[in-house]
Amino acid sequence: MKQHVNIAVFVPHQGCPKDCVFCNQSRITGQKRENILTGEAVRASIENQLSTVQPGQSAEIAYFGGSFTGLPRKYQTMLLSVAREYIDAGRVQGIRLSTRPDYIADHIMEYLLTYGVTTVELGCQSLDNEVLELSKRGHTAEDVVKAVKIVRKFPSVRLGLQVLPGLPGDTLEKSMETIKTIVALAPDFVRIYPALVIAGTELEWLYVTHQYKPLTVEEAVRWVAEMWVPLLQADIPVIRMGLHSSEDIRSDGTLLAGPFHPSFRQLVEEELYSRLLKRMIEEIGTVTNDLEVWIHPADETPLRGRGGVNWRGFVSGFAHSRVALRTSRTCKRQQISWRTAGLDDSQTLSFSSV
Ligand code: SF4
Repeated sequence: MKQHVNIAVFVPHQGCPKDCVFCNQSRITGQKRENILTGEAVRASIENQLSTVQPGQSAEIAYFGGSFTGLPRKYQTMLLSVAREYIDAGRVQGIRLSTRPDYIADHIMEYLLTYGVTTVELGCQSLDNEVLELSKRGHTAEDVVKAVKIVRKFPSVRLGLQVLPGLPGDTLEKSMETIKTIVALAPDFVRIYPALVIAGTELEWLYVTHQYKPLTVEEAVRWVAEMWVPLLQADIPVIRMGLHSSEDIRSDGTLLAGPFHPSFRQLVEEELYSRLLKRMIEEIGTVTNDLEVWIHPADETPLRGRGGVNWRGFVSGFAHSRVALRTSRTCKRQQISWRTAGLDDSQTLSFSSV
């Protein structure tokens, strides 16, 4: 399968008459709310990024950051036409855009398809109506289900859903219910961004007046680990966990509070490896023979855990055996296999079984 890259063009906040409590797109993307992109600026950004695309990679021009289908139609047409030039020239393979669930309709999808849109990402954030209301999203969980059904009428379009655990009124149980519904909706992929307090948002005011308490990093890691398991079981990829560590989010005064970590996904993987190793100890029971443990090389860091804590804890459970960690590219990601010396059979556990 070709490696996929996004040629990201941010269209901040424009087209969005809403003010969700957590959102200040200009702060997150580093662009001013009133910025209007010109065709030249879009082409320059695309050209600049295309120069880094390797032969054999498949690229989509990705309009992120706002509610694309809420933009003035003329502006959408300009952005789509520029992207279409690159598709027609065979330099990119499609267009990806993000929008709100209540800004999707059959006629909108038909319009997008004429320009070669290949992926639609819907910001659903939560599928709990109380959380949506407290976050002033201006749409309901039912709107999300309706929008998914509309996108699914167009089989050439890939569907992504974005969720924000930890919004006002959210609980782990509500987030798990959200994931249960998402699994039933069967998107092609999911993004999970734990809610952060960004300057200039209503959430900032709720936070400083003690009406909102964001998740800690530890809580968010635990929540997202729990949420990932049903998605893994359903074979729905989570292509992003935690906000991208851009210069802008890290600039002074932008991020006020909340579970931001530059390697958030790795923390979640460490958490699930910690659980997996505990499960392994239960499965293995008492052994005196040597033990060989196999993983994919890309998983070695999260398996070992911060400062090696996961692996040390595991090894200490086998005081009378030698335990060797081996890596092989033939192993699947997020999976551990082990074999006891003298026995032919190996056993395997994966994240989806914790
Ligand atoms: S999250 Fe999306 S819908 Fe809400 S204010 Fe930001 S751009 Fe608009």
